[in-house]
Amino acid sequence: MTTLTQLSTKTNLLGLDRKGMEDFFMTLGEKSYRAQQVLKWIHFQGVSDIQAMTNLSKSLRAKLEEVAEIRVPEVAYESTAHDDTQKWLLRLSDGNCIEAVYIPEKSRGTLCVSSQVGCTLNCDFCSTGKQGFSRNLTTAEIISQLWVVARSLSQENGTHDRAVTNVVMMGMGEPLLNFDNVVSAMNIMLDDFAYGLSKRRVTLSTAGVVPAMKQLREVSDVALAVSLHAPNDELRNVLVPLNKKYPLKELMATCKEYFKDDNRRYVTMEYVMLAGVNDSPKHAKELIALLQDVRAKVNLIPFNPFPSTIYKRSDKATIDQFRETLMAAGINAITRKTRGDDIDAACGQLVGQVQDRTRRSERHRQKIAANQ
Ligand code: SAH
Repeated sequence: MTTLTQLSTKTNLLGLDRKGMEDFFMTLGEKSYRAQQVLKWIHFQGVSDIQAMTNLSKSLRAKLEEVAEIRVPEVAYESTAHDDTQKWLLRLSDGNCIEAVYIPEKSRGTLCVSSQVGCTLNCDFCSTGKQGFSRNLTTAEIISQLWVVARSLSQENGTHDRAVTNVVMMGMGEPLLNFDNVVSAMNIMLDDFAYGLSKRRVTLSTAGVVPAMKQLREVSDVALAVSLHAPNDELRNVLVPLNKKYPLKELMATCKEYFKDDNRRYVTMEYVMLAGVNDSPKHAKELIALLQDVRAKVNLIPFNPFPSTIYKRSDKATIDQFRETLMAAGINAITRKTRGDDIDAACGQLVGQVQDRTRRSERHRQKIAANQ
């Protein structure tokens, strides 16, 4: 395995989807079916050594070694929570670190994948936003999270069984602001020669980058989640500042269109429950009105605190009541179970322990109070 700290000029095969791999072999003057073989070695078998690809001739392997490699980030740290949630801190070749979280459940195992180092969106209740933005991840860096975790889990279990059944693009970053690399990485997740995950089991979560949502719909059929968090523009402008660019009217129109060709599919609306901020009966009623003609289900996420945040988690009774109000209006709503919070692996806690450098929180207190 190559875990380089220096930059390499060789092509990293880890980051090529089927089309990219076919193009790569074409330029080498090789047949395009090589793409399937190599994808299978890397992603299905978890191989990182070109010499282990025994159905390629010796001469082809030698040729590949000259121009390509399988470059995997180093695992800097790994921890397991009381509830068996696992977190991996991966060190990239430029020294930046990203986090991936694995959430085992009875009938499935979900991997939460990062798409950027940091995030530009600065959502007020998210610790990732507080640490600023460094850069987009490459396709190889995105898919490496699945590669590392799938391999590590299969070594723990002593089997080749794939313990990752679901992927959610809900780690650090806004996936739609790293569009091409995220789409390629998701292509690899769905490819039968790689991970073969079903389109319903790969979910892209966005804060609502409207033009990119429209584009995504054209090129990928993965599941869609939207970080809504507020039922009116005034409050959403504070919680998710991107709303000033793409307000609710536009966002909801896009959600309404999104699965219009398949009436079995729903957009998941994520709604973080912040005590005294967005959790009143008035907010529930506004949310019902907002979602009236949108085929949507709602995921209520109890807020996960981090140092320096002004927010608090709504109490259980408030969350239950909010959920019941939605259900009574015919909206399917579930409360997401908090997992991994003792190792800072819960939603919005990735790369925690950061200072609020922006000091925006103070300024926002007043606006929030006005929305009650
Ligand atoms: N940028 C993307 C994906 C990353 S966040 C998006 O906005 O959807 C994944 C989910 O976790 C989002 O719904 C996000 O709003 C939520 N989240 C962020 N911080 C949180 C926190 N502290 N507690 C609970 N959920 C949080």
